Amino acid sequence: MKVPEIFGANVFNFQVMQDKLPKEVFKSLKETIEKGAMLDAGIAGVVANAMKDWAVEKGATHYTHWFQPMTGITAEKHDSFISPAKEGKAIMDFSGKELVVGESDASSFPSGGVRATFEARGYTAWDPTSYAFIKDGTLCIPSTFFSYSGEVLDKKTPLLRSMRALNEQALRILRLFGNTSVKRVFPTVGAEQEYFLIDRKMYDARKDLVLSGRTLFGAKPPKGQELEDHYFGPIKLRVSAFMKELDEELWKLGIFAKTEHNEVAPSQHELAPIFTVTNLASDQNQLIMETMKKVASRHGLYCLLHEKPFKGVNGSGKHNNWSMSTDKGVNLLDPGSTPAENGQFMLFLMAVVKAVDDYQDLLRLTVTSAGNDHRLGANEAPPAIVSIYLGEELTEVIDALEHGVKYEGKSKQIMRLGVNTLPELPKDTTDRNRTSPFAFTGNKFEFRMLGSTFSIAGPNIIVNTIVADTLRGFADELEKADDLNAALHELVVRTIKKHKRIIFNGNNYSEEWTKEAARRGLLNLKNSAEALPRFADKKNVELFERNKVFTEREVRSRMEIMLENYCKVLTIEGLTMIEMGRQDIYPAVNAYVLDLCRTIEHKEKASLSVSTEKKIVERLSKDNERMFCKAEEIEALLAEARSYADAAEQAKFFAEKIIPVMEEMRAFADDMECYTAKKYWPFPTYADILFSV
Ligand code: ADP
Ligand code: MG
Repeated sequence: MKVPEIFGANVFNFQVMQDKLPKEVFKSLKETIEKGAMLDAGIAGVVANAMKDWAVEKGATHYTHWFQPMTGITAEKHDSFISPAKEGKAIMDFSGKELVVGESDASSFPSGGVRATFEARGYTAWDPTSYAFIKDGTLCIPSTFFSYSGEVLDKKTPLLRSMRALNEQALRILRLFGNTSVKRVFPTVGAEQEYFLIDRKMYDARKDLVLSGRTLFGAKPPKGQELEDHYFGPIKLRVSAFMKELDEELWKLGIFAKTEHNEVAPSQHELAPIFTVTNLASDQNQLIMETMKKVASRHGLYCLLHEKPFKGVNGSGKHNNWSMSTDKGVNLLDPGSTPAENGQFMLFLMAVVKAVDDYQDLLRLTVTSAGNDHRLGANEAPPAIVSIYLGEELTEVIDALEHGVKYEGKSKQIMRLGVNTLPELPKDTTDRNRTSPFAFTGNKFEFRMLGSTFSIAGPNIIVNTIVADTLRGFADELEKADDLNAALHELVVRTIKKHKRIIFNGNNYSEEWTKEAARRGLLNLKNSAEALPRFADKKNVELFERNKVFTEREVRSRMEIMLENYCKVLTIEGLTMIEMGRQDIYPAVNAYVLDLCRTIEHKEKASLSVSTEKKIVERLSKDNERMFCKAEEIEALLAEARSYADAAEQAKFFAEKIIPVMEEMRAFADDMECYTAKKYWPFPTYADILFSV
């Protein structure tokens, strides 16, 4: 296989556009894509036709607008290109109008009350800034999704809006530094994706995995990840065959799948693509997750993307590596070598520091979900407290700036922005902090709190918007200054003084940090029910409106959807537990108890000791009884939960009243698993699942 030949084979990229489109049309479309300019309506028909010819040549028969509703996954509705022609014949047809807009029923997608039922119509619109591609014989056209009244119903539109806001404000800063040649600034993202691969037969045998994506029961296996023998370990044949095919599929889709390795937990792996423009990175991450599932099924495997499929075993996250780049390819978070470049770098860096401090709540709530609540703050993933890691060198520089003293690093000088150069900062140091939720890694930030199932659109909307808004404030101030260097220095020092509390280079997993963070006044929002209601706080709504990312109505609807989703997920988990408890575990344990009772009867007749059997029977009977009662309790609580009209109140009820009982029920079941003969246990155990591949 020649990789360069298959790479992008299924993508309508610049190369193909140039080949298939008339020169003028190509130029116009390229402008639209690169500058985010308005699409020239006149060219849509020509582009559509070229796209169709190209797709049909590649065996496609259908097309779809491919969009990202608030479900967090992608949606598609296929239409064939087929169109009647003379004499009962058919031709393949695709118009400009079909390319540009699609109509789809919005009533079955979450809208958080934005879309009234009388206006159920939804529209999809082509996003020319993301390439069209062919997937399973269908031409997929990346699209936005909105309601009849113009309200946004998807994740892509606000992402594009946040990118626009960042572009506008970052350009103002660059102009201040005399840079007039850059035309566009865009955020870049590389999203590392963690996942589990298990045997398909194991998956099918577990109702909890099938219905909720995670195991709701399961005792700790004798071997977990304690030997640390899986991380970066040799990849098993079956898994490597999967990875090979996955890479191939992704390459064809124009995705630079680069790094594949085993992760910390048994059966856990990671894939990292090379970073790209955020909008593309977001679409590509959706395709990566979808392709993982598809390829796994071809190998008799199942790909688990849930944040915490197994209790007591590391969960899966997604690391969102984020930076800003100019259209000239310059990374704005790369410290330069001249005083001016360093001054500019410091300003962008401090914008991120201030943004993260001012909007800890938004960053926290954008990574919250019922699934990710199992990870954050659980000593395997970043804590629920948001902070920034800058590393020792940069922190020393900042200290020196703050106090106007000599920087004691290599350069031994009094730090003055715009006058001195920064010391060389080590990139990718091996001892870098892996416990930090938001870590500077030399020339980018790594936002490490995302859950593995997440669309990266949500978190990036927040990061882009809060940084854009901070840059806006900086630009407002600096544009008025007579002496830019003096004003810059003063602004940076002031920002350091005010926001240094958010900087923490130590171990984020430690008990002391929780206390220290409280002393510093940092937020510690423990779960979704605590975090989500903050979305609509006045300062946040104002932020989104100022940057034209969300209207207040859109903020409220999104908050509603996230809260509802939290409650729905927990309802499904609760109901699944009840069903598995009553229909599988209870009868299985009883059958084993009966078996033991018969043994006791026979042994007693033979005057043999039955003390062990009796002990087990007693323990199991008691546990089984108690587990059954907990199921009844959960059932009653779920009924009570339904009576809450307010989504935030309902979420709180789930977090505080229902989750603890679910955990109690599980504890009884897990104890019984340890005492029940293997052949009676109704589903595969952790050891069966985790070491099955
Ligand atoms: P690690 O596992 O050590 O965090 P990886 O190499 O697995 O590192 O992942 C780093 C990710 O960061 C890759 O996806 C890479 O493409 C991405 N990345 C590198 N530079 C940038 C940048 N300037 N902007 C955004 N992402 C970047
Ligand atoms: Mg990483």
